[in-house]
Amino acid sequence: MKYKTFCKLKRIAGVVTAAAVVSAFSYNSVLADDAPSVDDIEQQIAQIEQENEDRRNQLDAIEGEIGQTQDELDNVSGLLQNQKELVDYYNNLVYYKEIEIGDTETEIASLDEQITTVEGQIADAEKQVEKLEEENAANLEKFAEMVRAMYTHSDTDLFSILAGSDDFYEMSVGTEVLNNITEKNIEFMNKLKDDIDKLEQYKKDLGDKKQQLSDTQNEYIAKKDQLTQERDELAGLEDDSRAAVDSYQQDYDNYQSAIQQLEQQQSDISYLINVSDEEIAALEEEVKQLILAQQKPPETELQDGMDWMWPLTTNFHMITCYYGDDPDMNRFHRGMDIGDGGIYGSTVYSTKGGTVIIANGSYGWNGGYGEYVVVDHGGGYTSLYAHMSAVYVSEGQEVAQGEALGAVGDTGWATGPHLHFEIRINGEATDPLAYVSVP
Ligand SMILES: [Zn+2]
Repeated sequence: MKYKTFCKLKRIAGVVTAAAVVSAFSYNSVLADDAPSVDDIEQQIAQIEQENEDRRNQLDAIEGEIGQTQDELDNVSGLLQNQKELVDYYNNLVYYKEIEIGDTETEIASLDEQITTVEGQIADAEKQVEKLEEENAANLEKFAEMVRAMYTHSDTDLFSILAGSDDFYEMSVGTEVLNNITEKNIEFMNKLKDDIDKLEQYKKDLGDKKQQLSDTQNEYIAKKDQLTQERDELAGLEDDSRAAVDSYQQDYDNYQSAIQQLEQQQSDISYLINVSDEEIAALEEEVKQLILAQQKPPETELQDGMDWMWPLTTNFHMITCYYGDDPDMNRFHRGMDIGDGGIYGSTVYSTKGGTVIIANGSYGWNGGYGEYVVVDHGGGYTSLYAHMSAVYVSEGQEVAQGEALGAVGDTGWATGPHLHFEIRINGEATDPLAYVSVP
């Protein structure tokens, strides 16, 4: 929290905290008379001003917090957006991987069909080979039977049977045998053998083809495994991004509701400040009315024709706070402060002749004005001298211009010795520098 310097605290002699001042006020209010004096009201005003000052500090702090939270919100908003884009990005990649996986599966299925076809072809070839082998075997069997028959009938060799047969049956058998071993028959058997070889070769080629298809299929299966693994990794990343989106969204919502809460606090505090400002205005009106009540009617003549006199000796002339808006304090300063070093105890003079209407020396340093004097100069004019360490005059006393009213001090809401000097017209404060000149 930053510390503000403001008129009444500019000349801090010792460290007096606002809390100490406030608690001193509440202590003093117990001692106050039933009828509120100008000083009582001034003290209330000072206290409310202090409270408002605290509230304005709170508002500053909340403003800072809102700024910080807004920064966090903007930051999270950016992260959230990035994560949402990442989710879309991964989602797309997963989508395309799945298309690739689908294509690979189609390829695998197609290879399955091709393999099945080749297996069918192999089975057909095997059947054909089997059939041819059976045929071959049958022919061989016939040939073997023939040879056996020949040997069963005679011990003679084949040529003698063929050449000199004396028996018709033997002859016919021999003829049959001959017929059976014609070159044509041998040719047929050779062709059969050849066909079998070709089929075997065909079968072998089909086996190679099947192996190739199967190898290709295995490559596709490996590719599918690879793609599936990649797809799973991408899906994992997508899930992570979604989780991050949820988490950032949660943060975003939290920051947003925090800002809403802070804004609500701001508006609550601003409302209290407005209410307090109205309260201060009402109390200031009360001060005005109290001074007015004790003043001579405004119609009376302004006493003497003399100029307004500087209320101190001319060597004290350092103005530490002017009349008017006091931005440091967020209030209106109704007088001017004169606060040179070494001013404590120096005499305060009446700026003009008149009647003392308030000579308040009873509240000590606890009140707003502290020990103070109000002089009625007639014509609706009054002058006010506050925070004095001593009051030399009493109410109703006539004073001449330049007459000693008291001594400079630091009573009331002042933490350093200075004279708070006001000139009021019909109870309304006005700029004293319009009347007195700084020496
Ligand atoms: Zn002042």
